[in-house]
Amino acid sequence: MKLKNLEMMLQTLNGFPKPRASLEQYQTPAPLAARLLFHALMKQDIEGKAACDLGCGTGVLAIGAALLGADRVTGIEIDEQAVSVATANAELLDADVEFLVADVSDPDLPGRIGPCDTVIMNPPFGAQKAHADRPFIDVALALAPVTYSIFNAGSVSFVKAYTEGRAAIDEKIGGAFPIKRTFAFHTKDVQEIEVEILRLTRNQ
Ligand code: SAH
Repeated sequence: MKLKNLEMMLQTLNGFPKPRASLEQYQTPAPLAARLLFHALMKQDIEGKAACDLGCGTGVLAIGAALLGADRVTGIEIDEQAVSVATANAELLDADVEFLVADVSDPDLPGRIGPCDTVIMNPPFGAQKAHADRPFIDVALALAPVTYSIFNAGSVSFVKAYTEGRAAIDEKIGGAFPIKRTFAFHTKDVQEIEVEILRLTRNQ
């Protein structure tokens, strides 16, 4: 599949019916999701691999990974309503994904889902709840040797310090995340924020 085709397919997916600000529910735009996934595919981190999407929301990353040939894909999400949309989205594109309603902070979670090869995620950036991204990074490193995650631009020094001794950042890919007016505190129709996709490799 070509990048453009994946992007067009992901574009058809439904978003959050009632996005919740407290959970930082922002669907990854199809071009950015496709870019992350294609990059991971080229690095041999998707095809034939077990992939896990933490905070999968309406499923765009998980579904994209399945479409690119991941062997097994698990999507974890705390919001049951989002999981209903994600399940319907996966059916829409005939993607095989197992969705699980769970809190990434649940200490039993890694044991429940077992190890995987690659984590792909767009976690909360911690704009509403400080440090909301930390349990995501912790669980990602517990689950998989390789993680692709979307962060606010300028997060490298934080991520580097936070994962010190546990993982290394071996790639940074810049991108844009256009956010449509979603919540009352949004003042523009579309606000584009700069983001970066980081590839983290867990220390042996
Ligand atoms: N990955 C999706 C959604 C990104 S928004 C996408 O790329 O489109 C961040 C998601 O994390 C939201 O769906 C939110 O409900 C979920 N989330 C926030 N805190 C969570 C937690 N503690 N455990 C699991 N999911 C959580």
